[in-house]
Parts: sequence; structure tokens; C-alpha cells
Amino acid sequence: MSTPPAPRIAIVGAGPGGLTCARILQRHGITPVVYDRDTGPAARDQGGTLDLHDGDGQTALREAGLLEEFFRLARPEGQEMRQLDPAGTVLFHHVPEQGERVKPEIDRGRLRDLLLDSLAPGTVRWGHTLHSVDGPAQGPRRLHFTNGTTVEADLVVGADGAWSRVRRAVSPATPRYSGVSFLEAWFHDVDTRHPDIAALVGQGSAAAADGERGMFAQRGGGGHIRVYLIQRVPADWITAGGLTPRATDGIRTLLLERYRHWSPRLRRLITDNDGPYVDRPVFALPVPHTWEHTPTVTLLGDAAHLMPPLGVGVNLALLDACELALAVARHATVGEAVRAYERTMLPRAAQTARRLDGAACDLLSTELPDFAATFLLYTSPSPRDTR
Ligand SMILES: Cc1cc2nc3c(=O)[nH]c(=O)nc-3n(C[C@H](O)[C@H](O)[C@H](O)COP(=O)(O)OP(=O)(O)OC[C@H]3O[C@@H](n4cnc5c(N)ncnc54)[C@H](O)[C@@H]3O)c2cc1C
Repeated sequence: MSTPPAPRIAIVGAGPGGLTCARILQRHGITPVVYDRDTGPAARDQGGTLDLHDGDGQTALREAGLLEEFFRLARPEGQEMRQLDPAGTVLFHHVPEQGERVKPEIDRGRLRDLLLDSLAPGTVRWGHTLHSVDGPAQGPRRLHFTNGTTVEADLVVGADGAWSRVRRAVSPATPRYSGVSFLEAWFHDVDTRHPDIAALVGQGSAAAADGERGMFAQRGGGGHIRVYLIQRVPADWITAGGLTPRATDGIRTLLLERYRHWSPRLRRLITDNDGPYVDRPVFALPVPHTWEHTPTVTLLGDAAHLMPPLGVGVNLALLDACELALAVARHATVGEAVRAYERTMLPRAAQTARRLDGAACDLLSTELPDFAATFLLYTSPSPRDTR
């Protein structure tokens, strides 16, 4: 009896979810192709830092054979956490214990490099922006890229993030604005150039809120601190104020007015930043987001269940990736694997999304004595055997 040909698996998106899925598939002798719109691994700055939880993100990295390397690259001291009031008084301070590995931080760029370096050469095809997926539900599917390329696949995995193009093949849902917007500000070489801010944030993060606005500051590797100024505003608050996102001085003036009751020390997180602000309105998919099973297309990570950024997104993306790859390795057909994967992933995502629905506003609450705790664990169950 001849063995059936290996399924052609196309993963769209070389983010943490897509790369983890590819890595675990390869460990099981399956060869996927990953397509990403970036022109190369260094095409854009990967930005901030992520904490990988011991219940989900770390479980996936263990399955990927990368957990020890992750611990070598991670910053356990990044688990330090302070909560302040707008006057700058420290209300809560968590200092991690020696060897604490509950949720160590890693820079996004380092995590991406760790995953990329673990893949067989040529796995990722850069410069491929997916336009659409068509073809019959039973396959093969056709992926059309904006560079004019078309490829066929027996399974299309949408790991293409918040504004997924693959999602359109299974669901009409699109992300909606949460009512809360982040404005990102960066501080570089902080121990030398911004020592007071470095002391305020420590080795991990510092947060404060007054009901309408908040701040979340987080240290990354290499002496960088990223600050999110968090406001309950319309998504277009910058242009509605007659400004553009690059109008740093105008935005700063607007912010200083809005944070006028805050302590001068905290207001330095608004005034002393290096470079322009980055506007990041917070979007989320409707809750619950689900779709009718189709054997040749599925989604993982933000493409499947974009939620407010409360410390779960990357962990769920890694867990999804792990479970999907294991399901493919353990089932006779990709259709059976997708069914088994979605049976676990969709209810878990719905449960977490319900808990976080509207939680972007919690980031502004003064009622939470443990404001910073909203960034703590939202652990998910470990990957189940999806056989
Ligand atoms: C401001 C902010 C802060 C956050 N902080 C945290 C945090 O502290 N902890 C946490 O767990 N999560 C955090 N998140 C969420 C986290 O970043 C995401 O949940 C996580 O990155 C999802 O991984 P992913 O692989 O599903 O998608 P992504 O990381 O979004 O990766 C998607 C990939 O797909 C590619 N792509 C997109 N469209 C196309 C296309 N059409 N064709 C080809 N390729 C495409 C992109 O280039 C990218 O490489 C934060 C999110 C935001 C916005």
C-alpha cells in the first residue's frame, strides 16, 4: 500500500504563533511553508517585551524543544511590578524571588529570532502579503499574494494577527474598537540618560491610573523602557484634536493637559520620551468569535481571538500553535486534526475572551488596588492530548 502524499501546509504569518506552529510540525517530520508580508526578519523593529507563562506559552516552547534556550534569553527580573497612584506613591510592589519562572519577560525580537533560528532554512517566504484564500472547502485551497504569486495548500493556517486576511475564508468578523487607546512612548539608554525613570520602573514594570487615564511602563532588554499612556478616548482622538500622529509637541501638550493632576515625576513619562509617540488604539474581536468548521482552513492566535492586551495574547497564540501542530502530527488527515484542535481551542478562547471583554477599561480603574495584577496570570489549561 502506498503512503498518502504529505499534506501541503501553508502558515500565513511569521509571528510567535505561526513560527511556533512551524517549529513543532518540523519536529514531527512535517514540512510547512510560512509566508509573511515583512520583507525579511529584520524588516521592522519588533518592539516591546512579552511575558511567557508557565501554563501555556512555556508549555508550547517545551514542545518546541526551546524552553531551556528561552530561559537563557529571558529576563526573570522583568517580573518585578509596581503600582502607583497618580501622586506617585507606591501602593504595591512585587519583587520576584530568586529563580522565579512564573512569567519571565523576553524581548519580542529575541523570541522571534529564537523561533526563526530553530526552523529549517527556507521555511519562511518573506515578502508575501496574503491577499485572499479561495478554492473548495475540501481543498485544495489557493493562496493569492499581492506580489502576484499563487500557491496551493491542503491546509491554510491563519496566523496573520489582528487584521487577518485568512480569517475572511471562515468568518465575516472584524475587530472592533474597545474605547481605550494606548499611546506608546520610548526611552532609550535609560540607566544613563533617564536614571529617574529607570528607578521608577525598576527591572520590570510600573503602572498607575485615575479612572479616565493610566500609564503602564515596562523595561525591556538593552536599557529600553516602553510606556503606554492609556486613555478612554475615541479611536481618532489625535486627528480629532487637529493633530497627526507625528506631531510630537502637539500631542505632548494635549497629554500634559489631560494628566495635569498627576505628579511631576510621572508626567516625565509623557515629556521626556525619545522619538515620536506611536498610536495604538485597542481593538478586539466580537465575543465569542467562532466559525463553522472547514477542514482546510483554520486560525490561531490573534487571527482567531484578538483580545485586549492584558498579557494573554502571545501565550494563547503559542498554546494554539502547539495544539494545532500536535493535532496534525497525530491525525490521519488535516481535516480531523483541525476538528480536534478547534474542539479545544474555540471554547478556551471564548472563555478567556468573555473574562477580558471590556477589560481594557480596567486598565484605567482606581478601584483595583492591584491595578498591576491585571497584567498577571490568566492561565489557560495545558495542551490536552487532542488525539
Ligand atoms: C500594544 C500591545 C501590547 C501587547 N502586550 C502584550 C503582552 O505584554 N503580553 C502578551 O501576551 N501579549 C501582548 N500583546 C498581544 C500580542 O502581541 C499578540 O497577542 C501576539 O503577538 C499574537 O501573536 P500572533 O502570532 O497570533 O500574531 P502577530 O504577532 O500579530 O503576528 C502576525 C504575523 O502575520 C504577519 N502578517 C499580517 N498580515 C499578513 C498578511 N496579509 N500576509 C502575510 N503576513 C501577514 C505579520 O507581519 C506578523 O509577522 C500586545 C499587543 C499590543 C497591540
